Amino acid sequence: MFDCLVIGAGAVGSLIARKLSSYQLSIAILEKESDVGSGVTMANSAIVHSGYDPVPGTLKAKLNVLGNKMFDQIAEELDVELERCGSLTVALYDEQLPLLEELSKRSKENGVPVKLLSKKEVLEMEPNINPNVKGALFAPTAGLINPFTLPVHACENAVDNGAKLFLNEKVVSIKKNGELFDVKCESDNVYQAKVIINCAGIYSEEIHKMIEDVDYQLIPRKGEYFLLDHYSDSLVKHTIFPLPSAKGKGILVSPTTGGTYIVGPSAEVTFSKDDVSTDKPTLDEVKRQALEMVPSIPFNQVIRTFAGTRPTPTTHDFIIDFAKSDKNFITCSGIESPGLASSPAIAEYVVNEFVSKVLSLKKKDNFNPYVRKRVNLAKMSVEEKNKLIKEHPEYGEIVCNCEKVSLGEIIDEFKSSVPPMTIKAVRKRTRAGFGKCQGGFCLPLVTREISKKFNIPVNKILYQFKDSYVAPYKVKEQKDD
Ligand SMILES: Cc1cc2nc3c(=O)[nH]c(=O)nc-3n(C[C@H](O)[C@H](O)[C@H](O)COP(=O)(O)OP(=O)(O)OC[C@H]3O[C@@H](n4cnc5c(N)ncnc54)[C@H](O)[C@@H]3O)c2cc1C
Repeated sequence: MFDCLVIGAGAVGSLIARKLSSYQLSIAILEKESDVGSGVTMANSAIVHSGYDPVPGTLKAKLNVLGNKMFDQIAEELDVELERCGSLTVALYDEQLPLLEELSKRSKENGVPVKLLSKKEVLEMEPNINPNVKGALFAPTAGLINPFTLPVHACENAVDNGAKLFLNEKVVSIKKNGELFDVKCESDNVYQAKVIINCAGIYSEEIHKMIEDVDYQLIPRKGEYFLLDHYSDSLVKHTIFPLPSAKGKGILVSPTTGGTYIVGPSAEVTFSKDDVSTDKPTLDEVKRQALEMVPSIPFNQVIRTFAGTRPTPTTHDFIIDFAKSDKNFITCSGIESPGLASSPAIAEYVVNEFVSKVLSLKKKDNFNPYVRKRVNLAKMSVEEKNKLIKEHPEYGEIVCNCEKVSLGEIIDEFKSSVPPMTIKAVRKRTRAGFGKCQGGFCLPLVTREISKKFNIPVNKILYQFKDSYVAPYKVKEQKDD
């Protein structure tokens, strides 16, 4: 029996669980996949938006601006890469200039520092932007975040502070049983809790409907991207946005914390909540619009395409509230963009405004907000690397050549309280397999290490999702001689 049960371990659920773990409460986190951060949190633009765009007065505006401000501390405590690179929203035509002014006004209403730039100033800051650019809105507080380690380290910190994480537990029904909820999973396990916090991302509507009818719908809207390799001549230093439209913030060109570049996303309603396929006509349109802003994008450097699906609510704002029929059920639905940027503020808001009304919150004396700092070989100087390798030779054994990830860094992750058990989970934590060859070189080595560490036969190791075995069959039997 738990005081609080969080359903879904994306950025939102993980940060809420972490915040709850600073109080004297028993906490469970149920996640349907084999790793945390396996939903929309791992397939997005990874921008810590400044908050220039949401309609003033909405929850999106309030929590985006607050979340943006909280990220320096979160990144420091949770050892997550954050780069405050700033963003430029560009006008390519004269008739767009009044819209830029409107956006500037909206930013100020939201309390976001911005500056309108002339054509000359834009081209000085970003020489690769279309030379016909007319002006831009500069938002210096926008940033880039590592969206893979954010939920992992938040969950690790929650677990280190006493929360219990249950992976591969898909919630299938919720029933009230006296003062408690019985939460049943596909595995037939039943968890009991006083308070439920629904953070199931695109499936939060289905979870909410397990206890009552809802008056909103989450429409899946897919966003497709190109991912470009590390590119030595700096393409862009800031996140470059077009002017926003009814479809959202539009197709951006941006660096990432991994040193690569992303171009996208599209925004099309799709048939399935699990649809993360990409298709040529959509990607061609993404390419066309991106080239209009930055004509020199080297599309011959694309290393993969990917897609994420937004849980777009029919209410047009985040839905964070008590259930109508039961105050012990709190829902976080419709957390589309800027959900990542808002996630630390959503956690504060949910705990301070909702959980505190139904549970008595007493601070723990021994809450530790920090996770163990990780070694990041690719970002160390030669002297630092030499010293480390002398003491710990495993950091000298490179497993992923593209991203320069060492065996030591992978072994390090196995020591975490949320260790990686799949190939994708190792990728998300270390970048091994995220580079140009997409795991062609390191996949067998990572498979070997997972097998060794957890004593799992190689043919049982998963790439990521259920049944995604990386080496299900033997091609030929190995002879002893
Ligand atoms: C194309 C695109 C671009 C975006 N760009 C940005 C951006 O640049 N900046 C920004 O701030 N935001 C961005 N977003 C939005 C951001 O990604 C999301 O708002 C945020 O990641 C939502 O996190 P979450 O934890 O609510 O959802 P999720 O990460 O989806 O987490 C929900 C979790 O619940 C689990 N779950 C679901 N059903 C069940 C069940 N029955 N039982 C147990 N577990 C369950 C899932 O497996 C998942 O792990 C973008 C989104 C998209 C799609």
